Amino acid sequence: MTNTAPTAFTVGIVGGGVAGATAALKLAGLGINTHLFEKNESLVSGPPICHLHAGGNLYREISDQQCISLLEQSIATLRAYPHSVNYRPTVIAIPQNDPGEPDAILSRLSVLTEHYRQMIAEDEGNRVLGDADDYFALFSKEDMVTLAQLPLPDAPSTVEEWMIPVAKFMPHDAFKYPIVVVQEYGLSVFRLAATAALGLAQTSECHIHYQHDVTALNKTATGWQVVSKSNDGAEHLQDVDFVINAGGYKTGTIDNMVNAARERWVEYKAAYVAHWTTKPGMWPEVIVHGERGTPQGMGQLTPYPDGFIQLHGMTQNITLFDGGLVKSADSNAQPVLPDGLAEKAEGVWAWDEIRERTDRAIAHFAQWLPDFSGAEVGGKPLCGAQQVPGSDPSLRAADATFEGDTYARIELVKASSALQAIDRILAHCQEKGWVTLPEGWRERRCH
Ligand SMILES: Cc1cc2nc3c(=O)[nH]c(=O)nc-3n(C[C@H](O)[C@H](O)[C@H](O)COP(=O)(O)OP(=O)(O)OC[C@H]3O[C@@H](n4cnc5c(N)ncnc54)[C@H](O)[C@@H]3O)c2cc1C
Repeated sequence: MTNTAPTAFTVGIVGGGVAGATAALKLAGLGINTHLFEKNESLVSGPPICHLHAGGNLYREISDQQCISLLEQSIATLRAYPHSVNYRPTVIAIPQNDPGEPDAILSRLSVLTEHYRQMIAEDEGNRVLGDADDYFALFSKEDMVTLAQLPLPDAPSTVEEWMIPVAKFMPHDAFKYPIVVVQEYGLSVFRLAATAALGLAQTSECHIHYQHDVTALNKTATGWQVVSKSNDGAEHLQDVDFVINAGGYKTGTIDNMVNAARERWVEYKAAYVAHWTTKPGMWPEVIVHGERGTPQGMGQLTPYPDGFIQLHGMTQNITLFDGGLVKSADSNAQPVLPDGLAEKAEGVWAWDEIRERTDRAIAHFAQWLPDFSGAEVGGKPLCGAQQVPGSDPSLRAADATFEGDTYARIELVKASSALQAIDRILAHCQEKGWVTLPEGWRERRCH
């Protein structure tokens, strides 16, 4: 057993997902001594992250304020992790059989455009989604008929060019108009992981303890003693001044270690990988809106190279699961998933079920893209459990909260909130006089 006492203000971070890794990068970049404990053997290896959510337009049910927060947080993420973004626009279509109307999303898009315009006026560096006037574009049925006549471009560069495959292969009568194209991009979890691992390997301030499972947090006179178990069974003790709980959907187990009550949801979800061997041309992301949890739940088609497609279908027998949304209790800050889903959250899936659910996901999207019905199962699902803090399970923008002065938790629903979370924690530490932050510390990049 080893016990190490710090000599300078030291932060212990539990969990090396996008929350913990971003916190560690930011702290180390500011010269703050950090110990990062991750029970797995690599960073950012948790649930998938595929959309940046620059404006939250995938979610009709959330408030304009949440959409603005997601826009701001995504712009900060894009500036901090420019190499982790897949630049392609997102098409948002409302099917004829959906009760929603395009008008409802149009007014919000105008609010977001104005907000983006203001952000650019305040800081030109925020112009990472293109010009404010181009944040979104609208396509009528007549536009779709015209675009359908054009040849498929090899490398689309305008929104019109991105729309050509959609116009050619998605039946025009299936949708309400206008169809929206918005500058919401993809986020590559693999490049985020590589950026974090390479960035942290270059710092002397961050000590990463891979394969260390944090089992207890003991209060000391000045901070905390972090107790962890390495995979050889040895127990390790590390004294720190401040703890950041970045445990992802296990955040509640760490809250339980310090007797902190907290209301939260945990939801298990899965996205599927299809191989569309006959995929014609380069595709944008395509979202077909629908009511969550009903058989016509939102469909999402996310393109990757070589014909691989990631699919979400927000229905119970595709992305969502019966019993998959669970709530904390007064005596337990960690929501408890039913047995089968707890195993799945650790990556245990039977191939029969993979085939069955992926085939359903393909059939779901083929309702609006008949050519896609020929796609095949392309790999294992991209799945996992995630937390949603508070009482409203539809919340999509959340960051950091505190329990006393020396314990913070990062409760991400979307990866792009990670920077705001660590900035809030740093501001708290500065206010307490534990760190002195240089001018412009919020703008520092994560690479
Ligand atoms: C199907 C699906 C699709 C999604 N798509 C998107 C998307 O497109 N865009 C987006 O922004 N978000 C998406 N999300 C949400 C996103 O995955 C999460 O918000 C994000 O991964 C949370 O990051 P985190 O660092 O908080 O948690 P995690 O990534 O879960 O990381 C927590 C880490 O803590 C470690 N840990 C836990 N307990 C301990 C302990 N006691 N000791 C040591 N280590 C510990 C875990 O091993 C893990 O590595 C999706 C989620 C799902 C399930």
